[in-house]
Amino acid sequence: MIIILLGVSGCGKTTIGKLLSQKVSIPFFDGDDFHPKSNIDKMAKGISLNDEDRLPWLLTLAKNIEIWAGGNGAILACSALKETYRTLLTSKFSNVVWVHLSGSQDLIKDRIEKRSEHFMATDLLASQFNDLEAPDYGIHMDISESPEKITDNIISKLKNMNQSFFGVIGLGVMGSSLSLNIAEKGYAVSVYNRIAPEEEHKVTDFLSKVDEGKQVKGFTELKAFVNSLERPRKILIMIKAGYAIDSLIETLVPLLSEGDILIDGGNSHYLDTNKRFKYLKDKQIHFIGCGVSGGEEGARKGPSIMPGGDKASYEIVAPVLEAIAAKDKNGNTCCIHVGAEGAGHFVKMVHNGIEYAEMQLLAEIYALLAMTKDNEEIAAILSDWHTTDLSSYLLEITIHILKTKENGKYVLDTILDKAGNKGTGSWSTKAAFDLGTVNTMMSSAVFARYISSFKEKRKQLSKLIEKDLKAVDPINVNSLKEAYRFARIINHYQGFELMRSASKTYNWHLNISEIARIWTNGCIIRSKFMEQSVEVFKKYESYLDNPDIFELLVATEKEIRMNIAYSLFHRVPFDAFWSAYNHWIAITTENLPANLIQAQRDYFGAHTYQKVDAQEDQFFHTNWY
Ligand code: NAP
Repeated sequence: MIIILLGVSGCGKTTIGKLLSQKVSIPFFDGDDFHPKSNIDKMAKGISLNDEDRLPWLLTLAKNIEIWAGGNGAILACSALKETYRTLLTSKFSNVVWVHLSGSQDLIKDRIEKRSEHFMATDLLASQFNDLEAPDYGIHMDISESPEKITDNIISKLKNMNQSFFGVIGLGVMGSSLSLNIAEKGYAVSVYNRIAPEEEHKVTDFLSKVDEGKQVKGFTELKAFVNSLERPRKILIMIKAGYAIDSLIETLVPLLSEGDILIDGGNSHYLDTNKRFKYLKDKQIHFIGCGVSGGEEGARKGPSIMPGGDKASYEIVAPVLEAIAAKDKNGNTCCIHVGAEGAGHFVKMVHNGIEYAEMQLLAEIYALLAMTKDNEEIAAILSDWHTTDLSSYLLEITIHILKTKENGKYVLDTILDKAGNKGTGSWSTKAAFDLGTVNTMMSSAVFARYISSFKEKRKQLSKLIEKDLKAVDPINVNSLKEAYRFARIINHYQGFELMRSASKTYNWHLNISEIARIWTNGCIIRSKFMEQSVEVFKKYESYLDNPDIFELLVATEKEIRMNIAYSLFHRVPFDAFWSAYNHWIAITTENLPANLIQAQRDYFGAHTYQKVDAQEDQFFHTNWY
């Protein structure tokens, strides 16, 4: 344990420090013994030290604190009047208990005048009081009591005061589960939730779920929560994304200190994260935009974690994040520093985009199979696929959903066909527009959800459509399986290309293979194919550069075509599959009709065009009229 007794000269730091040392058996050190001679000479002559004089002294102490912390601990008497000095003192080791010895200037002056051996001229006291920035954290002791009494009071406060290593704001689905996960890994955690109407008991309810022996403290008052954290404070924010985050940051900033670290673990937009990162950097507060995937269960047992921001601040929170994250098949943590600024939230957004399209592919398969098969039969088909390379978490839960009954009825059959969304799918699509890449599968999945929401309109119009479209052909399940594999590859191709493009544009140096690796467990899109992808990206930039994958797509192209035809014939919306196939045809077609687009653009807007037989940097215009 490192205890630093701070306060102006003459407040009794040495006396109390030595007494405390005897009582708690932690070695005592006097900070003044570490001053360089030049400082001692200056002080003896009655000249105040300036910050330049103090810097080497504070850095020497910081180094020693680090050494003492690794040994028997220390009780250090050190004036540490200003916050910047305290920050320097804790620059190597932050888990420090501060004890501020405070008293009136008259009392201290009186004491100094009685101490002939003290090398400090009493008239420097006033300037020390001027410099003093009393901390609003740690233990505060009034020195008017006897040294014995003060020491006993410190000991009793020390017993009550063990600060938490980590803080979590927001005890919703994710925040609660992550807090339990962090506590389970042995970290002392403070948790905070605002008091919203009818939610007064949220914190106490949460605390009642915490296992005995775990170090978890609950707060509904933000300042007390912040003060309960050791420094630099490490605070994970798990609240609703958007304005609530900005508003919380505004409230938090005055309570924080330089070097503290805020981690936004919600689904924030990466451009918002970029802005918040810069805003907080100006205030010397580190900001980590952190994607978290895995839902409630993942958060509790091990999510996939995608933090972005400064590598140095990541290193400080890494022990916690890496401990709570899922582990890949080799036992490595599914958490890496993804890249600078908003890189973590960008990668999480793409994860969700891929997830949207994966879910839509399964929904379209379900629609096609449901024409001729019941839930159990569909579940049996998908269970068979799940034993192959098509195995995935989403396939697994789909099988489970298909078989689940409540009161003798399949739950699935009772659910209204209106899909919700929280925006991350459309963000991916917008990002693809901004970056000039293709992610038609994600956008088709987003639009499929939008169309589903027009239930009333669909109901009304469906009555006007011929109803005798009964399935006539037996569906070829093996062919559908091949088409599914084909479409999943294109979906992943689109998602990973989007990340590659962002990496280049924003200079993020994303390690694509490592991103695939942290998605092999804990997250919603974990799958056998993701495991294969880790290896693919160790060798190739893109899926289509891998000859095995390319040949597989060539070989199974006819299967996706057949299933699209089947969906057309039976009037089943099948847009995610269509999008996959269209992208494949276009990317493998040498001549597209974009020459006509260029001619039209030049015709009405004089936008110019390049020619098939000219240099790439040559542009032409035709006088069309
Ligand atoms: P949740 O269960 O709805 O909980 C939301 C939390 O945010 C609650 O603690 C709530 O406090 C707090 N909150 C809401 N508005 C607030 C405001 N204006 N100011 C302060 N606090 C506010 O949400 P969740 O599922 O835990 O999700 C939290 C974040 O993680 C979101 O960004 C979400 O998109 C993301 N995420 C969720 C999942 C998932 O599977 N659920 C997965 C990955 C990421 P009250 O209780 O007082 O309202």
